[in-house]
Amino acid sequence: MSSLISIEDAHQFILDQVDIAPSHTVSLEEVLGLTLRTEIISQQSSPLFDKSLMDGYAVRTVDLQGPTVSLKVLEMVSAGEVGEHRLGREETIQIMTGAPLPVGADAVIPVEMSERESGEPLVHLQTAGIDPEKNLIRKGTILQPGQKLLSSGRVIRPAEVALLAELGISEVDVSIEAVVSILATGDELVATGESLGPGQIRNSNAPMLMSQVQRAGGISRNIGIGRDQLDELLNKVTLGLEANFLLLSGGVSAGEKDLVPQVLKECGVREIFHKVHVKPGKPLWFGVLEKSTGEKTYVFGLPGNPVSSMLCFEVFVRPAIRQFLGQERVLPRMRKLPLSKAHVAAGGRPTYYPSQLVSQADGLAVEPVDWKGSSDLLAPTRADAWICFPAGNRKYSIGEIVDVYTPDW
Ligand code: AMP
Ligand code: MG
Repeated sequence: MSSLISIEDAHQFILDQVDIAPSHTVSLEEVLGLTLRTEIISQQSSPLFDKSLMDGYAVRTVDLQGPTVSLKVLEMVSAGEVGEHRLGREETIQIMTGAPLPVGADAVIPVEMSERESGEPLVHLQTAGIDPEKNLIRKGTILQPGQKLLSSGRVIRPAEVALLAELGISEVDVSIEAVVSILATGDELVATGESLGPGQIRNSNAPMLMSQVQRAGGISRNIGIGRDQLDELLNKVTLGLEANFLLLSGGVSAGEKDLVPQVLKECGVREIFHKVHVKPGKPLWFGVLEKSTGEKTYVFGLPGNPVSSMLCFEVFVRPAIRQFLGQERVLPRMRKLPLSKAHVAAGGRPTYYPSQLVSQADGLAVEPVDWKGSSDLLAPTRADAWICFPAGNRKYSIGEIVDVYTPDW
């Protein structure tokens, strides 16, 4: 159908609309998973001083003549101490891992290669394999002052936390969190804890979307279930529009009771697009509310079918949240992998198919899981990836290269 826009156009329309959120300062303890909004430049060297990488004896390699040598022990230096002596001819200093290297030393012989009677001033050291610079690290080998370490947009993981801590950075500028309201619509829906009447089903989309929002680094606000009635939807949508994002599920197709696009328009949300050339997820609706304060709420009408909603969140909502948070990489990351099982793709739209990554002798491959369609919530529990098959009917053979999206769940 010509009115459907492509996945690429949908991405472009979304990214053209979404502004980057303001930033604020938080302490290092609270920073995990948030998006850095400043460049981190090193103010110091790492290591800060030449240091030993082993428990052992700091030596001058010029003194290591022959397979064993006997050197005079001047003192012992532990991590956190600074020795008093510099090394002279045929002298050594006992040193612990992390301790500053004595002046004059150019290698460390591990304690396992030493022999010393207790109280003896001499230590006997094996010299095999001890070349200059062995078992030590010089000041500035890892970082230099002025070096650019992290850019704005980086999502902070434990590795980044550790680096910031090493540099003594205890407060960091990060994006404010994205607040995302979730409103499931449908007369047939019942909350998970309640009993089902005839023809009713449980609202699985809200818990699913809330967990997807959490994974995307957002804060979810559940607005509950909206019946397919204009007044009720208007009230609940108004509530949901207080957040940065509003995700609705259901009510965006062509049915009698698919009132969501109409309600959103009545609430002043400007439609950017409706319907995408993708399977599952064709009825996807996207629009923006511009408030008098200048703030915006980005609204996605997701299809009611659970797998469609799940997929549309990953492929379309998540990039919008990433852009809002000011992240480095915004669009879903695709990679190419060989199929480990033949597959017959059918359909007029590009199709994201729940799939499983498989380790093979010659590397990673991927295979579609058994999938009964967009209401089949069992298939995604067996999947850790989605193969994106282009539109068209075609048989794919084993070994054929396909495009794969692996969500970071
Ligand atoms: P709709 O998009 O409203 O036409 O819904 C499409 C299909 O998804 C119907 O079979 C609905 O019953 C189902 N559905 C809609 N909303 C939900 C939900 N929140 N949880 C589970 N299934 C839903
Ligand atoms: Mg419905």
